[in-house]
Amino acid sequence: MSAMRHRELPFTGPATFFKAPLRPEAGRGEAHIGVLGLPYDFAVGFRPGARFGPAALRAASGRYAVPPEGFFDLDSGRPRLSGARLVDAGDVDPVQLDAAATFERITTAARRVRTVARLPIYVGGDHSVSYPLLRAYDDQTDLHVVQLDAHLDYSDARNGTHWSNSSPFRRADEEMPGLSHITVIGLRGLRVDREAVEAARARGHTLVTARRLRESYDEVLEALPRRASVYLSVDIDVLDPAIAPGTGSPEVDGLGVAEALHLIEAVVGRNRLVGVDLTEVAPDLDPTGRTALAGARLLAETMALWWDAVQTT
Ligand code: MN
Ligand code: MN
Repeated sequence: MSAMRHRELPFTGPATFFKAPLRPEAGRGEAHIGVLGLPYDFAVGFRPGARFGPAALRAASGRYAVPPEGFFDLDSGRPRLSGARLVDAGDVDPVQLDAAATFERITTAARRVRTVARLPIYVGGDHSVSYPLLRAYDDQTDLHVVQLDAHLDYSDARNGTHWSNSSPFRRADEEMPGLSHITVIGLRGLRVDREAVEAARARGHTLVTARRLRESYDEVLEALPRRASVYLSVDIDVLDPAIAPGTGSPEVDGLGVAEALHLIEAVVGRNRLVGVDLTEVAPDLDPTGRTALAGARLLAETMALWWDAVQTT
């Protein structure tokens, strides 16, 4: 009964991401997967609370702690994630009311996690954090972003600020010559920023509404990048609010978990995944806790799909 023994019950032991060891000072190459928390939500335009996302995801992901032998896959009969080394890389401390200073810390932390782990996973926080996260990939010359989101997040400004959770991909696109292409899937709702849509289309980005996804699923899968370096950005509000109500800007008529997983499987299987973020989980808006559980499950599945892909290449 050693202290290192796998703890089966979800709520036992200190709450770290997937019950991985907490290693904020982890060294180069120490892990296959490193998970970093970004408890920052000062950029939201509607309902706050995503600052509590990392804590909720840590608690919820205790249910998906990887057993030593891996998860037994019911469909294939094979183990998943067996042998993958995970670390919890800690949290970035936000600088209250100073977005630029917070973003500097996020970029610095993301650069560090990239040296620690082959697959960094970043847990927000509101979606504004994707801009400083993407800045940590300025060494990439042909980076593709796949964004699953109800919203485009490509506005030049909103309410007088250029740094909110409506603008991260616009800022990254302006600043990063190595960012080649963005594919956004799941768009819907009435609050559409026409200027942002036109600007994104003018740059050649691919915008897929939830409606178009349903009408031509195979075409959308076919149009995903292939053999590219891909940064996957998942805003939990891509899911239907019946599944994930704990989020700042919910939009009805969203994706199901199976649809989202199918897209993630296609992205991960065909490309080199260089980073993943999951944002906008605001747990206090969901007393049932199902949003955080769905987020943890999406991350566990993404890790397993990635691990399968790197084992076979
Ligand atoms: Mn978003
Ligand atoms: Mn969104």
